[in-house]
Amino acid sequence: MAPAIGEDAKLASSTLYEENVHFGTHLEVWGSWYDTEKKCWGYACCKGTRQRQRRCPKTAPLAEGEVEEEDDLEVKVSRRLAELLEKNPSFCGDVPTPDQEKIWSDVELRNYVHSNGLIRPARTKGQQKPEPTAADWKVLELEPGTDPAQLKKAYRRLALKFHPDKHHGDKDKATATEKFRKVVAAYEAIAGHVAEIPAVAATTDGGQKRRWRIVVVD
Ligand SMILES: [Zn+2]
Repeated sequence: MAPAIGEDAKLASSTLYEENVHFGTHLEVWGSWYDTEKKCWGYACCKGTRQRQRRCPKTAPLAEGEVEEEDDLEVKVSRRLAELLEKNPSFCGDVPTPDQEKIWSDVELRNYVHSNGLIRPARTKGQQKPEPTAADWKVLELEPGTDPAQLKKAYRRLALKFHPDKHHGDKDKATATEKFRKVVAAYEAIAGHVAEIPAVAATTDGGQKRRWRIVVVD
């Protein structure tokens, strides 16, 4: 059976570059040069072997202090993940493939992004929900049996306090991350459902900025 027209159109639009079409500011096409040392193709104009580097050093030298754009990094994601990443520009965790995340619920995927890839849904069939312990209540700084409204409030406060995106410097971040994980696990054990990870606004103090491009595949 021939593919539906929509399928064809999708394929065509996902082809990001065409053969023999000049890319970026390069004067020559990709494949116009072969680097025998690196054993890979490149651009003859600048002998560059990074296919997705738009800037040709010969035609557009870097200005002083300018940083090279790493536009040869691209990741293929589902539409729902692309939308989440759009809203969370500081996300810099591992990007799950559409195949990996298709069995995650929307909440799980959102949690994954909001936790910067830290809280990956556990997907073991028949996994038992952990029974809450006194230690779980202690992590949330509550007395055992505190009412659900207070529980939720405490969880949110501590999740935001220890959110890895709010901590900088390796040591501080590692300590906060550990605490954050414990807070989430304790809340899930007590509440009996998946904890919603609050989003933290992207930091502007020279924090990490995503360096890769997103390609939607569904
Ligand atoms: Zn070039």
